Formats: sequence, C-alpha cells, structure tokens
Amino acid sequence: MTIDFEFRKQVMDYHIGSDLIKYCYQCSRCSDNCPITNVTTDFYTTTGYNPRSNILNALLGYKDAIFDADPLAIWGCTVCDTCDEVCPQNIELTEIFTLLKNQSVADGNAPEFIYSQARAIFEGGKAIPISHTGKGPIGRRREQLGLPPVADPDVYEFQTLLKNLGVDKKLK
Ligand code: SF4
Ligand code: SF4
Repeated sequence: MTIDFEFRKQVMDYHIGSDLIKYCYQCSRCSDNCPITNVTTDFYTTTGYNPRSNILNALLGYKDAIFDADPLAIWGCTVCDTCDEVCPQNIELTEIFTLLKNQSVADGNAPEFIYSQARAIFEGGKAIPISHTGKGPIGRRREQLGLPPVADPDVYEFQTLLKNLGVDKKLK
C-alpha cells in the first residue's frame, strides 16, 4: 500500500474546526454507531461500510485503499452526523467524507445516480422534477389548500452560478 502525501495533506487541511490535529485512535465508536455500518456489515466477514477504516486510510494517505474499493466505501455515508457526535477525539468525519466524495466525482468514478441527479438539478433547478404549477396533483392540492403556485426556478441564473463553480465540467 502506497502513501499519497498530497492526498494526506488535503485531508489534514480539510479537517476544519481543530487547531491541533487530533488523531484517530481507532476506537471504532463511529462504526459502532453508524446506521449504515449496522445494515451493511456482515459480522463474520466484516465487509460493508466502515467509517473507522475510511478515517484510518484517509489520515494515513492510503488513497488507493479508499478509491479502488467498492463505491459503497465512500458513498454509503448518508451524512447523518452521528459519527461526528460520538467521536471522542472530535474528529469531523463527515467533513473528510465530503472531501472523499468530491474527489470521487472529480475523478468520474461516482455512482451513476449521483451524476444523473446532478444533471437533473443543473438542467431544471430541481433534484426531483415535480409540477407545482398548472393542473398536476401538487398544483391541485395547493389550490385546494389556498396556497399560491410555487414559482419555477430561474434555470438560467442557476446554471450561471453552477458554471462559475465549474459544476458543469464535472457532469458526465
Ligand atoms: S474517528 Fe473517532 S470514533 Fe472513529 S475510530 Fe477514530 S477516534 Fe474512534
Ligand atoms: S455520517 Fe455517515 S459515516 Fe457517520 S454515522 Fe452517519 S452514515 Fe455513518
């Protein structure tokens, strides 16, 4: 296993909220309390989503161990923040996991549903296209409740903002 020092530095720099780097001592409290680990890990084979392993590999700079693994290793996290709450070292795990997800997207290796949802947002300004206006079911229900129609987003303005951030270049 090779150490990627640049990646390791990125992880350290990204670990905000701490003047002093507080190293993980692998107590496993994050994994013990993670709801995704709970439903994906086979106790006997220890496969599945494991925030403790991700943190260890990230802090040591073992980039390959993270990015060459099953995409679940990164994308299993739902950012529920439980691990952040329970870590005795106050490591902001979810900040580091966000870095891993961003890197996965930039490398073009994120799961397809991430790109398709990002495309939907880019093209229509909504993650899940629904009809607020007109005579769709939601529009009718709003009308019955005396609510005004929801204005459609300004897609042009939205896309301009996303292009300035370079999001369009990351969409497959
Ligand atoms: S990240 Fe925190 S909770 Fe998880 S193993 Fe390391 S010290 Fe323990
Ligand atoms: S934030 Fe992610 S890694 Fe942490 S407990 Fe929730 S699902 Fe697990």
